[in-house]
Amino acid sequence: MLQTPYYLIDKSKLLQNMERIAKLRELSGAKALLALKCFATWSVFDFMRDYMDGTTSSSLNEVRLGHERFGKETHAYSVAYADYEIDEVVAHADKIIFNSIGQLNRFADKASGIVRGLRLNPGVSSSSFDLADPARPFSRLGEWDVARVEPVMDLISGFMIHNNCENKDFDLFDRMLGDIEQKFGSLLKKAEWVSLGGGIHFTGDDYPLEKFAERLKRLSGEYGVQVYLEPGEASITRSTTLETTVLDTLYNGKNLVVVDSSIEAHMLDLLIYRENAKVSPNQGPHRYMVCGKSCLAGDIFGEFDFENELKVGDRISFQDAAGYTMVKKNWFNGVKMPAIAIRELDGSLRTVREFDYTDYEQSLS
Ligand SMILES: *Cc1c(COP(=O)(O)O)cnc(C)c1O
Repeated sequence: MLQTPYYLIDKSKLLQNMERIAKLRELSGAKALLALKCFATWSVFDFMRDYMDGTTSSSLNEVRLGHERFGKETHAYSVAYADYEIDEVVAHADKIIFNSIGQLNRFADKASGIVRGLRLNPGVSSSSFDLADPARPFSRLGEWDVARVEPVMDLISGFMIHNNCENKDFDLFDRMLGDIEQKFGSLLKKAEWVSLGGGIHFTGDDYPLEKFAERLKRLSGEYGVQVYLEPGEASITRSTTLETTVLDTLYNGKNLVVVDSSIEAHMLDLLIYRENAKVSPNQGPHRYMVCGKSCLAGDIFGEFDFENELKVGDRISFQDAAGYTMVKKNWFNGVKMPAIAIRELDGSLRTVREFDYTDYEQSLS
């Protein structure tokens, strides 16, 4: 039995998302690229490759990983490329999307051998969090002025617009796409492709996949563009857990347990957005505050209800530990790094990576 803590990727759950993505591609003609900034655990890329068209990236490291480990279509994007990166980025990509006209002009020649595009910012988004809102005031993420973009149209053949964020609401997506068409329709008419980015939670159980596909197909037809999506979270949502073990129990006005993991080190995204972890089924008469083992006072996964009293050695499994979670794990407090395991479709468990003292030591010098 594998020693906790470990991230456990369940392929049968991943498959549900993959099948929905494949269905959307078929119905709509849109292409789907995995956003590596959300999920870059490449041991399952062999599996995901059959259902998706490739990857998109936010840095040289990501575009290289996408090219080498996923293959198929590889999009490069970055908020800003450095002079010393650009040649290697171009060597690993089929398409490069610049964040600004300044970057486009600076690197247009170096990237002339591959397809070039520009990020547009429509100034509307579905995010309620400032931190994650691409349309926040004074946003640096993309160009918004049509009059400034028109003169560089001869350098590019398409656009990327990423303004959805955890958007489960098809009508909201539809309205915002309408806004985009109003604002940027004249540019889209001249483009060959448009990527609508990520943040659309179309693999959810209740999402109207057919309506979504119809809308994408209509966009493609009206403007004569190949539509791309860049699903991160939607690709891997609900596929992965973080498996932990109770190390200690305390009573301090509330019942507390300490597990062999840390939200700061192993599920940092939740802490940044001040969300609780998820435990399933979270039902029963015994309520506990589940705490991490780092010395950060607020290293708390949340309060959950359990069927039985918890004792040292019990297992606690946190849901939804793939997106923005594994990519952000860190060595804070030197807490043991969770291993990575995969549950295959036949139910068997395979450990694909374990981390030890050397990895910790080598992470600094
Ligand atoms: C973050 C991001 C994505 C992926 O977003 P999800 O919410 O994980 O689907 C896709 N494209 C771009 C440009 C992004 O910045």
